[in-house]
Amino acid sequence: MQTQLLIGGSFVAGDGADEIILNPATGEALATIPSASVAQVDQAVAAARTAFLSWSDTTPGERSLMLLKLADHIEQHAEDYAALESQNCGKPFHLVLADEIPAIVDCYRFFAGAARTLTGSAAGEYLRDHTSMIRRDPVGVVCSIAPWNYPLMMMAWKIAPALAAGNTVILKPSEQTPLTALKLAEAVAEIFPKGVFNLVLGRGETVGAGLVSHPHVNMVSVTGDIATGRKILESASGTIKRTHLELGGKAPVIVFDDADIAEVVAGVRTFGYYNAGQDCTAACRVYANANIYEKLVAELSSAVSGIRYGRPDEEGVEMGPLINERQRNRVSSFVERARAQDHIEIVTGGKPAEGAGFFYEPTVIAGARQSDEIVQREVFGPVVSVTPFSSVDEAILWANDSEYGLAASVWTRDISKAMKVAKKLQYGCTWINSHFMLANEMPHGGMKQSGYGKDMSAYSLEDYTVVRHVMVKF
Ligand code: NAD
Repeated sequence: MQTQLLIGGSFVAGDGADEIILNPATGEALATIPSASVAQVDQAVAAARTAFLSWSDTTPGERSLMLLKLADHIEQHAEDYAALESQNCGKPFHLVLADEIPAIVDCYRFFAGAARTLTGSAAGEYLRDHTSMIRRDPVGVVCSIAPWNYPLMMMAWKIAPALAAGNTVILKPSEQTPLTALKLAEAVAEIFPKGVFNLVLGRGETVGAGLVSHPHVNMVSVTGDIATGRKILESASGTIKRTHLELGGKAPVIVFDDADIAEVVAGVRTFGYYNAGQDCTAACRVYANANIYEKLVAELSSAVSGIRYGRPDEEGVEMGPLINERQRNRVSSFVERARAQDHIEIVTGGKPAEGAGFFYEPTVIAGARQSDEIVQREVFGPVVSVTPFSSVDEAILWANDSEYGLAASVWTRDISKAMKVAKKLQYGCTWINSHFMLANEMPHGGMKQSGYGKDMSAYSLEDYTVVRHVMVKF
């Protein structure tokens, strides 16, 4: 297994503290990987800064070809990447292979194409004898900081638009899930010029913080917790960096009484528990019209109790473990605090699973009220709450009563009602009669404390470029 940092085109062993990487399905160690030292963070930034001079001079067509090669490489080695991601994160292997890898390959291909489509607005004479034109140029050295829930996909969302736009990148994966990034670095080193992509490993508070405050890093893109986003914003203010923040969610799922309940149940069963609920768009906060509330709770509870969880390489397994013991304890403590309230009923699951690994039972919590912690805070685990509502206005009010603003869904056969509600929801993405579906052509990003800046789509490419004005006197 490759365990080295990539700095300026060379693979080097980390000089910093050792990090033990666990297999969440067994709790056993998979590898011990040294982190970057402060000096190595400096070297990576210097390498990216030097490489920017020539990389920013390449044509979109040249960059596009390299991104296409990287996409082909991942596609050709799909099983290896899926196996590594599955081991490191506990995700069911067949789901990584069928759902995540194709979306990752498509992301690189999308940005390979999009790189060639950036155009400026018309040049014109806004002052007599002066021609103005607009340029969209790369920002410079971009530091990409990724979370542990979708390591390879978050890497694609971050580095594909950054590189396509002509920036150079330093990636810091989560200290818990660096394995696929380490493997991908080998391919990147063969395809891209030296220093265009650099990989450093280590904890957020040391290696990550060093990158964020570094005077020669021009932009920081982070996907993580709101608290992490706040720290990064404070630190980035010291050098007035451009920031791009994707920070968690608590997606409301509004179910009207004319919805197809079987579809809703199937949707929440899939999209509330995918990746063991460790997903910022997870369908975790259900609001059900009072007329269908009891039926929905009963059918959802029965469907969720049939979710098959287990080791990621087991045949037919639908859900893996949580990432670590700390996360499982966190999920467990949310459920225990909810259970202690008289009006709440845990109708399915509600406890850690027996045996090795960090498994937690798929859980449905009924009778939750709007002010309850379980409705307000992101659990990031296989836990869905259901709350009854009595009017359209109440559903909208409660759905919007959240510090998060990433994703939401509305379920009804009345498309006019769906459109009226979707208009009022303060979320970066709203699905109607669906949830969780993403397309690389469409933007993904939050409102409110879920952050700002878009991943995927041409909007992301814009985020990784600066609009500039050039004026010529004639
Ligand atoms: P986290 O905030 O703990 O860590 C995210 C990354 O930030 C890691 O690489 C970590 O090392 C780094 N980091 C932590 N503190 C830092 C600091 N002070 N300076 C620089 N870097 C620092 O998040 P996590 O636990 O890895 O991931 C789960 C969180 O990510 C959840 O809250 C989830 O909702 C969110 N998430 C959001 C999206 C989205 O698109 N909005 C997608 C996936 C995950």
